[in-house]
Amino acid sequence: MPINVTQSYLPPLEDYVKYLTGIWERVYLTNAGPLVVELEQRLKDELGVKHLFFVNNGTIALQIAIKALDLKGEVLTTPFSYVATTSSLVWEGCTPVFVDIDPATLCINPALLEAAITPRTVGIMATHVYGNPCDLEAIEAIAKRHNLKVIYDAAHAFGVTYKNSSVLNYGDISTLSFHATKLFHTGEGGAIVTNDDELAHRIAYMRNFGHNGPEAFWGVGVNGKSSELHAAMGLCVLPKVPELIAKRRILSERYDALLDGTKCVRPTIQPHTAYNFSYHPIVLPSEEVLLRVRDNLNAHEITPRRYFYPSLNTLNYVAPQEAPVSEDISRRVLCLPLYYDLQISQVEQVAQLINEVL
Ligand SMILES: *Cc1c(COP(=O)(O)O)cnc(C)c1O
Repeated sequence: MPINVTQSYLPPLEDYVKYLTGIWERVYLTNAGPLVVELEQRLKDELGVKHLFFVNNGTIALQIAIKALDLKGEVLTTPFSYVATTSSLVWEGCTPVFVDIDPATLCINPALLEAAITPRTVGIMATHVYGNPCDLEAIEAIAKRHNLKVIYDAAHAFGVTYKNSSVLNYGDISTLSFHATKLFHTGEGGAIVTNDDELAHRIAYMRNFGHNGPEAFWGVGVNGKSSELHAAMGLCVLPKVPELIAKRRILSERYDALLDGTKCVRPTIQPHTAYNFSYHPIVLPSEEVLLRVRDNLNAHEITPRRYFYPSLNTLNYVAPQEAPVSEDISRRVLCLPLYYDLQISQVEQVAQLINEVL
């Protein structure tokens, strides 16, 4: 049986069919349907956030966040993330300015932020990498001091809390991805979270073409809406999330017990964090070792993923900038298979194949 880096959790088919039956009865598929409204309410309650907008993916969530904050100019961002973090800035006409990462947490290094600020800097876009919270308090202090807006790409951070409160409560806006590969998913999907009423109003109309009723417009918008079919998937998966996290934790801890932590170095999780085990990255001693490990796993139909690679400061559509820590880590980091239906025996097999070539 091939083992991929991830496999989507699918709820029992009959659960999904129950929601489909309702959709068929109502003959109502999209535009703030009852399932979308229900999912948004349940997510707000579970996550403990004030405003949450369910959208059709995590990338449009980032793009609407940038537009809602009216960011124009330089945005300080991390080179160690999925490409959407950088591409959405470029797509929206902002200039990404890369600030290197902390080698222990793999999140943006707040000690380097202030040196990168210029008169053109308007904001910070940072990722809670692998669900590990950024240094929230340091970033907040710097943003206040320099009057910068903060967007957190929280695509990996579903359910993560810092000091007993959702990480989504930090910054001006946080965005989530509910892509099929994420811990909580709706097939495709995402969300925009804010505690600011005025921003919430802008996000609400921007998500829906700018509409203010059927014949008037608040301003320019885009189509960020999601459908009843996607909301139904979310409503089936959401109650299962605590169990998904608990299982991932067991598997992740098994990897840790079987692998040498000095050769398979793990990111340092921020203190005061309830982590979600959304990924199992290991940082190997060199790229050569990484390729050896990957090839040995591939030879046994096991596909880990070089995630994140390459470092985003090396993309061909951004101005060349240095980020030596990110470049080094991205050459040596590998995400191991981790998903709800993975068996302990499979974790043991993966670990053994890694140990053979370390
Ligand atoms: C998955 C992901 C995104 C994009 O989300 P989509 O829903 O796939 O558009 C953005 N940022 C990060 C860090 C991600 O992992």
